[in-house]
Amino acid sequence: MLSILRNIVQEVNAARDLQEALRIIVSRVQEAMGTEVCSVYLLDPASNRYILMATEGLYQESVGKVSMGHSEGLVGLVGAREEPINLEDAPSHPRYRYFPETGEERFRSFLGVPIIHRRRMLGVLVVQQRESSRCFDEGEEAFLVTVSAQLASVIAHSEATGAISGLSLTGEETKDICFSGVPGAPGVAIGTGVVVYSTADLDAVPEKAAENIEQELELFRAAVQTVREDIQRVAKRLSSQLRPEELALFDVYLSMLGDKALPGEVDARIREGVWAQGALKQVVKQYIRHFEMMDDLYLRERAVDIRDLGRRLLSRLQEGEEKNVEYPENTVLVSEEITPAMLGEVPKGHLVGLVSVKGSSNSHVAILARAMGVPTVMGLVDIPVNQLDGKELVVDGFEGQLFASPSSELRAFYQEICDEEAELFRGLEALRDKPCETTDGHRVALLVNTGLMTDVARSLSHGAEGIGLYRTEVPFMIKDRFPSEQEQREYYREQLEAFAPNPVTMRTLDIGGDKALTYFPIQEENPFLGWRGIRVTLDHPEIFLVQVRAMLKASEGLNNLQIMLPMISNISEVEESLHLIYRVYHEVREEGYEIHMPKVGVMVEVPAVVYQIRELAERVDFLSVGSNDLTQYLLAVDRNNPRVAQLYHSYHPAVLQALVRVAQDAHSVGKPVGICGELAGDPGGALLLMAMGYDSLSMNAASLPKVKSVIRNVSREWAAQLLEDVLLLDSPHVIKSCVDLALRNEGFGRYLRPARSSSAALAKKTSA
Ligand code: PEP
Ligand code: MG
Repeated sequence: MLSILRNIVQEVNAARDLQEALRIIVSRVQEAMGTEVCSVYLLDPASNRYILMATEGLYQESVGKVSMGHSEGLVGLVGAREEPINLEDAPSHPRYRYFPETGEERFRSFLGVPIIHRRRMLGVLVVQQRESSRCFDEGEEAFLVTVSAQLASVIAHSEATGAISGLSLTGEETKDICFSGVPGAPGVAIGTGVVVYSTADLDAVPEKAAENIEQELELFRAAVQTVREDIQRVAKRLSSQLRPEELALFDVYLSMLGDKALPGEVDARIREGVWAQGALKQVVKQYIRHFEMMDDLYLRERAVDIRDLGRRLLSRLQEGEEKNVEYPENTVLVSEEITPAMLGEVPKGHLVGLVSVKGSSNSHVAILARAMGVPTVMGLVDIPVNQLDGKELVVDGFEGQLFASPSSELRAFYQEICDEEAELFRGLEALRDKPCETTDGHRVALLVNTGLMTDVARSLSHGAEGIGLYRTEVPFMIKDRFPSEQEQREYYREQLEAFAPNPVTMRTLDIGGDKALTYFPIQEENPFLGWRGIRVTLDHPEIFLVQVRAMLKASEGLNNLQIMLPMISNISEVEESLHLIYRVYHEVREEGYEIHMPKVGVMVEVPAVVYQIRELAERVDFLSVGSNDLTQYLLAVDRNNPRVAQLYHSYHPAVLQALVRVAQDAHSVGKPVGICGELAGDPGGALLLMAMGYDSLSMNAASLPKVKSVIRNVSREWAAQLLEDVLLLDSPHVIKSCVDLALRNEGFGRYLRPARSSSAALAKKTSA
């Protein structure tokens, strides 16, 4: 059965469109189960009716014509109950409905199973049999349920293909369909989709022997040289937008093209007698297989880079011109796998948004997009990419949503958000040098989270009072080896100098989980619960010591460094880290550097330490809550997994209770406590945190002006009352609505991000 199932799924996956996919399903299932009839009915969201979409055994003329209300007949009953219905004598069932146009009166036994994709009812798969004596047995029922579960996502994908062109199942026009992915970079973009394909197809290259080995070698070397030049050209074009350490990504590409790397291996195969294209295909495929088999997300993503390089080389080898892509002024770049190199192909000033089927908020491209301020949606897994070229697209980088060919109503909705954002920022510029203080005189420090130098420039212009979190792993991630002490010192000095005399909080390397370094692979079954953050660096003191040494030396003469330790789950980790930091401090002073001992703090990210705040606080100078991870671990919801994204809620009562407790316990031993997770940059979240007594809020530079404006316009007393009210509630959604309502009542409705619910009110959603 398993192999039958696998074959059906493969065949359906290869179908050209929904109709073909459905025809394959009904004929293969009928064959496999030996039934007289197999039919599939899909629920048309436009009419809310089940439509007969394909059948084996009923009259073909009825396909597309027979339909029933969503609670009508046995099909409607399966849909309403969301479970299989297995009847020996269907016509005697009170819900049986007779459709003469299908020729169905001849059939008695009925087995219908629902087709459900991510909680959404897509349709019903039915088998029928003439003899009344045949009752489908348990095994057959289980088979049909398995087929339906496996095919649901394929059907959803094919259905989305139709939806993108604005057509419902019946061919009627539909209104705005929303595709959901993962937010990559915040903001809203409205523009024209430009789908980037790679011209060369490695899979299509035939296996052939080289006719002239020398000639093949020459051809290949020339291709490598041209691609190298292409990459250098792209890096140059981006050089005014990116800092040198960000441009280092292109060095990674160039080093893959070094003689000893990929070209060396292709060369060797050509010498063995394989023609250049075949040799390239063999080597690239081997590399890709190798990387894709790795469990580690970051390393798997390197396969993308290899594939991109392979295609570029192949296209040069084939002497085919690179597809002459036209990039309109408002380009939304769309691809299966956007690579950093693709970004560089877009003329300066033309790129307004990015859409990538693969990747997460941790991908290189998302990091670059954030640095460049380009709204981005990643992980749009079900979207039919090749349907988006030339379409008008709306990219909602706040919510991770995409709309194709928006209605004028939806476009106006998002255009308003774009205009409001722009206007809001213009209006908020005046606040730059004003303190973040409530109307009754309560002061909160507003800090920024940085990783790249581009963030720093924006932070300064938005009036940040310091850096609450410098993610040091970011400069590590865009290199192909550990940066040296001197290199690190230069990165750190830039950050420290830019903000001096204000504090700059540098977090020690936080790798592991979803953040990996190509040159330091970590393979684990359960990476978020594994070797992460401080656990890695304490096991590798040589990494930790060099990093702290570079930080301390960089702080000479500035005295504004603070060091923060990530992923602490035990007091002993803090003690060990402090011991190492003191050791480096004394060594560096002995070397003659005039440095001061920096303040040292810990991140509160693991639920266990919520119950050990006093013990921790007594040992360090400050605490900072990483609400992104704390939420993930408290709720047991992977922060990067779009499937459970709706369960990830920082307004969850348990998260709020934990946050209250952390602030109270830190203050009870006289230590300051801040927060540097995304919640701090959410105006409503910031109000609650301020009311809880958090001393500093550290956020994305783009969120800072709004948060400052909200806090400056309310009293702490008012916020405290709001907090008291929401702490009595038991649902994250109700809490969020309550906070939003309070903001609206105070006149801050325009500060709220386009909430899922409000965009849903305009857009009929399909889950993607
Ligand atoms: C956090 O976990 O909230 C945090 C700020 O750290 P990161 O997002 O880098 O894990
Ligand atoms: Mg974290």
